[in-house]
Amino acid sequence: MSPAETEELRGILEETRSKLIASARAAVSGGVHLDPDDFPDEIDSASLDATLAFVGRLREREQALLRKIDAALARIEQGSFGDCSVCGDPIAAQRLRARPVATLCIDCKSEQEAHEG
Ligand SMILES: [Zn+2]
Repeated sequence: MSPAETEELRGILEETRSKLIASARAAVSGGVHLDPDDFPDEIDSASLDATLAFVGRLREREQALLRKIDAALARIEQGSFGDCSVCGDPIAAQRLRARPVATLCIDCKSEQEAHEG
């Protein structure tokens, strides 16, 4: 990764980060107004539970992504961005463009997936 390419990806990461935070804020402020009495009668408590569980999972996924973005931004600060965390080789620029939060080169990623199953 050239410094210019890294800066470009930093911009993408920061933009994704602020979108995630904005959507998390919207979900939280939306939750404040969530009153079971406002739901129409045909929504039973089971589907309400399912809806809330879905929102919870979504937030978990968003939080996990947020942590990965923070870690990637920290690696940019430290100058280790784009290095594979296993073998230390540079991760292909094409791969980082598709997935800026990647921490493994394609070889180590394939190796890891082979072990996972
Ligand atoms: Zn590697």
